[in-house]
Amino acid sequence: MDRYAVAGHPVEHSRSPFIHAAFAAATGETLEYGRLPCPLDAFASTLRAFEAAGGRGCNVTLPFKFEAFELARRRTPRAELARACNTLRFDAGGWLGDNTDGAGLRREIEHNAGVALEGRRVLLLGAGGAAAGVLGPLLDAHPASLVVANRHAHRAIDLVERHRFAFAATGRLLGAQALSAVSLEACGDGFDAVVNATASSLHGVASPVAASVWRPGALVIDLMYGAAAEPFLRWAEANGAQVRDGLGMLVEQAAESFELFRGVRPPTAAVLAALRERVASDPS
Ligand code: NAP
Repeated sequence: MDRYAVAGHPVEHSRSPFIHAAFAAATGETLEYGRLPCPLDAFASTLRAFEAAGGRGCNVTLPFKFEAFELARRRTPRAELARACNTLRFDAGGWLGDNTDGAGLRREIEHNAGVALEGRRVLLLGAGGAAAGVLGPLLDAHPASLVVANRHAHRAIDLVERHRFAFAATGRLLGAQALSAVSLEACGDGFDAVVNATASSLHGVASPVAASVWRPGALVIDLMYGAAAEPFLRWAEANGAQVRDGLGMLVEQAAESFELFRGVRPPTAAVLAALRERVASDPS
């Protein structure tokens, strides 16, 4: 049987095995999907042993997304832009690396939440691995402007410059208005959509920004989910936002990975509903 796994440190609480088992059942694909705990100093050797034992690919989570990028012999354009991979397919000619986070986020916003990004003002909070994975796909949605704000502003500037350069290399010029980088204190206000891709909720920070950054009725999405995301999301809701947690993105990015692995697109709505119930009864 074809074997897949989520590789990380730690992976004990990962929801990926549940999601991929549900996708396999829904699509009739025969596969096994487990957890692959990797010692911090032995990511590559653990993956190679898994491949030798019948592994066909894996999802990659913290802290190995950058190492996965280095290990991939071929990479999709969106992985090149992110410089991080959350998906590796073990092709015979060398591993293919992809990053499905941004496509998952766009699907969650535009399809599941029904919010079009084209022509809108979008604020992306964070400049870590998650923000790097979603910035290119968010730009591809043609917002009127996209501001990247980070606690350490220089990381936001680096991310923006890299994307500006990469887009220019393919003939897509991004004006200063269309893409800019600032510190968290200088975001501006009245955005139509705010994506919290910082780990602030994880650290118990109520909000990395003031509520004035979004307009009434704006979409505010935290990539975190479960108990940790609740204080920020409830506060944003009380301050006039329509809110989403990161569970929808988690399922949608997994669907992108599943398609890369198996060549078939799984349905996601029922899986997301089942996962939400599971997280509610077991928030760990
Ligand atoms: P990361 O690479 O470690 O980056 C962390 C980011 O959070 C950086 O921008 C950092 O700012 C910022 N940050 C940390 N503590 C902060 C605080 N107290 N106040 C303000 N900003 C703070 O992590 P990551 O991989 O980008 O992940 C970020 C979050 O996204 C995690 O919670 C992760 O679980 C979630 N995520 C969810 C999905 C999904 O499918 N739902 C997928 C990927 C990631 P500095 O650069 O200034 O330190």
